[in-house]
Amino acid sequence: MRKEEQFWFATPVNYTVDWKRVETLKKMRHQEQQRMTEYLHTQECLMAFLARELDDPQPSPCGRCASCLEKPLIPPTFSEKRAREAEQFFKEHNTQIIEPRKQWPDGLGKWKGKNIAPTLRAEQGLIVQDKSWTPFIFV
Ligand SMILES: [Zn+2]
Repeated sequence: MRKEEQFWFATPVNYTVDWKRVETLKKMRHQEQQRMTEYLHTQECLMAFLARELDDPQPSPCGRCASCLEKPLIPPTFSEKRAREAEQFFKEHNTQIIEPRKQWPDGLGKWKGKNIAPTLRAEQGLIVQDKSWTPFIFV
């Protein structure tokens, strides 16, 4: 393909899919996915795990992550009272809805201007502002 101004033209070069390269990339993505799954379940220091993944030759325990402290960094549960307080907070403050994007943004080649499948769209967002209209929470 070649582009002249806003028009695209087919070139006489026959395109063939490099299936060997496709398979190599698929294998790499699966390996990365596997490593992410291992990260989620590892008992070792999370920072050391990431450092090793980024080729740090001497990763060391951070002493601050959930694995090092052997406890969650944030409580895994919440109180109903705090949930009601948060709900009330949102009702009392200025909020603005952020609608999810329905079309792919520019710069994505063949996807430009095409609709994003509903199952791939982001969820609706929310901006909470204080009285100075300075956004301070994005949900
Ligand atoms: Zn750690």
